[in-house]
Amino acid sequence: MFSNSVKILSIFGFEVRVDPSWLLIAGLITWSLSQQYFPSVMPDQPPRMYLLMAITAMLLFFVSLLLHELAHSVVARRLGVPVSRITLFLFGGVAELESEPQSAGVELRVAVAGPIMSFCLSFGFWWLAGLADYLQTPAVFSAIFSYLALINLVLAVFNLVPAFPLDGGRILRAYLWHRTGDVLGATETASKSGYVFAYFLMAMGMFSLFSGAFIAGLWQIVLGGFVLLAARSSYQFQLARAVFADKNVSALMNSAPVVVAPEMTLSDFANQIMLKGRVSFVPVVEDGVLLGHMDVKLLSGIDRENWESTRVGDVFAGMDTETIVEPDLPVQDLLALIASTGRRKFLVAADHQLLGVITLADLTKYLDVANVLRDRRKH
Ligand SMILES: [Zn+2]
Repeated sequence: MFSNSVKILSIFGFEVRVDPSWLLIAGLITWSLSQQYFPSVMPDQPPRMYLLMAITAMLLFFVSLLLHELAHSVVARRLGVPVSRITLFLFGGVAELESEPQSAGVELRVAVAGPIMSFCLSFGFWWLAGLADYLQTPAVFSAIFSYLALINLVLAVFNLVPAFPLDGGRILRAYLWHRTGDVLGATETASKSGYVFAYFLMAMGMFSLFSGAFIAGLWQIVLGGFVLLAARSSYQFQLARAVFADKNVSALMNSAPVVVAPEMTLSDFANQIMLKGRVSFVPVVEDGVLLGHMDVKLLSGIDRENWESTRVGDVFAGMDTETIVEPDLPVQDLLALIASTGRRKFLVAADHQLLGVITLADLTKYLDVANVLRDRRKH
């Protein structure tokens, strides 16, 4: 998701990365603090002072966000959910869990840890602001601490909105999951709350735009769009997980695929196999023995005028292990393989014996049908 992020440090064994989009936010926060917020709470200071205060506050805000995500991460790891890294990006931070929480209880505890940390930070900064006043230090300190107390409070409250994938939405999902025992149903309901919140944010954004608050409006619209996408993809992820949970490749493969013999010419292959059978990935089989596969890419590597004189046997791809999967491979593992290699089509074979073909399209079609059937059952 954050392929452009840059690693900046590692804490407690968690890799902390920053997405370039965060720089935009850092700039925006610094700008609005130095131009608007600090001049209004502490008038009559030189501009350089406001800039210095703004940068300090922005950096401490950054640390606050990091601590919020660290709280999620530490609790997750304690409860047996590995966390690969923490990434800070446009909308704050995200602790990237390597797997989903195993139970509602685990999910709940991981989800509440972040907002609890933000509440504690808010209280801590509020206390520091009071201390700074009490010790009669320059007003700068109490102004910065007060701002951080406020922003951490906002962060905690915003994250508790019961809209997936915000922490509040995760808490809602954990509650529904606990009550019904159905993680998929719980995710569906929580995602819907995410959609509602997303549309609400976008509507607010439109309203702000029309009333002249351009940056705030744009910000709400983009944030709403992000929540919408995240809610949708996490539902689809859960659906795939539930639907494919106990399936392996042999259950979903096409077990009677069109095959081609190595002696066929490329022009016959193009016309009689690919066009007629509407397939782009074809196993090459001779006397019942699987030799490899032929596909559009291999075909288009040969000039068209040579298609009559060239045979499939001259150009096909041999039995490389990357295109071959075993029939008892779990579908989850196949999905991981697709994600890591970018390949979408596989031969299913055991001992040079072709058993079938499985493609990403087969999986998504199955998922679509399963989703429709799921909807039907509810009505
Ligand atoms: Zn959080």
